[in-house]
Amino acid sequence: MEVVRDLKQARQVVQELQRKGRTLGMVPTMGYLHAGHGALIDTAVGECDDVVVTIFVNPTQFGPQEDLSRYPRDLPRDLALIQNKGAKWAFVPEVSALYPTGTSAPGTLVVPPDDLTKGLCGGFRSGHFTGVATVVTKLFALWQPQRAYFGLKDFQQTAVIKALVRDLLLPVEVTTVPTVREPDGLALSSRNVYLSPVERQQALVINRALEAACEAAQASDATPRAVLSRAETLLAEEPAVVLQYLELVDEETLATATDLSRPAVLALAACVGATRLIDNVALRGPELSNSQAHGARSERVCQPK
Ligand code: AMP
Repeated sequence: MEVVRDLKQARQVVQELQRKGRTLGMVPTMGYLHAGHGALIDTAVGECDDVVVTIFVNPTQFGPQEDLSRYPRDLPRDLALIQNKGAKWAFVPEVSALYPTGTSAPGTLVVPPDDLTKGLCGGFRSGHFTGVATVVTKLFALWQPQRAYFGLKDFQQTAVIKALVRDLLLPVEVTTVPTVREPDGLALSSRNVYLSPVERQQALVINRALEAACEAAQASDATPRAVLSRAETLLAEEPAVVLQYLELVDEETLATATDLSRPAVLALAACVGATRLIDNVALRGPELSNSQAHGARSERVCQPK
C-alpha cells in the first residue's frame, strides 16, 4: 500500500493504470475509519483490479458551527486498516491541493439539484451537499475511477452522488453498500467517538424506532402516517435524543412519500448531547415487501439490526 499525497503522484498512478487497462475503484472517506468504511473497501477490493481509499476532511462540507476543527483523526490507524484490507493506495491530500484558491474562496463549485438537497440533512446543513458534490467531483477528476463506493448510512449523499454522475455524464459506476451496525444496532459512525457511555446507550432508541417503523410498514393497512407515528412514539421515550428531522421519502426522488406503494426510506437526524447522528432504513409496504423488482438498494429491507 502506498500513501499518495500530491496531485502529480496521483496523476502518475492514474496514467500507469490506464496504460495497463486496470479497473480502479475509489472509496472516498473523511478518515477515522471503522468497519463501515471497511465494508466499502472490501466491496471495492472484491470488484476492482485496484482500489484507492481517499482520506480528506473536506472543509467545504462543514458549516461554520459544525465540528470541522475537532473531527476525529487517526491517520496511522487508518493506513493500517487500508493496508490490511488490500487497497493499493491511500490518497491523503492537503487542503491546498484540492482547493488551490483556498476554502474561503473555493472557486468552481458543483451544486446538486435543489429537490435532492432542500430536505432531510440539507434543511439543516446549508451548503453541505455542494461541498460533498464539489470534492467528489475533484476526486473523480483526479483519479478517474471506473467505480466508486458509498455507504447507505448517508442515504441522501448517495442520491446526490448518483445525480452528480448522471448529470455531469461522469464515467463512474456508483455502488452503494449497506449500513454496518454495532451488535446492539447503533450505526457505525466516526462521530460515535463523541458519545459518552450514557449518550451511547440513549442513542440506541434510534435503531429501535427504525425497527418498529419497519414492522409497522408491514401491516396490511400501513400508511406513511402510521409508520411515522410508530417511530415518533418510540423516540419520545428517550428525551435525550433530540430529533432534527424524521421523514419518510421516496427512495429515488427524496420527495415526501405519500403512500407505501413505492420503495421509501425512513430517515432521521438527531442530536444526543452535542453529537449529531443520522440513520435510515429502507421500507417496503406490504405490497412490495416480497418484491425484488425495486431492489436498487441491496440492504436487507426492514431489518435494520
Ligand atoms: P465518512 O468518512 O463518514 O465521510 O464516510 C465515508 C463513507 O463511508 C461514506 O460513503 C459513508 O456513507 C460510508 N459509511 C459511513 N458509516 C458507514 C456505516 N456504518 N456503514 C456503511 N458505510 C458507512
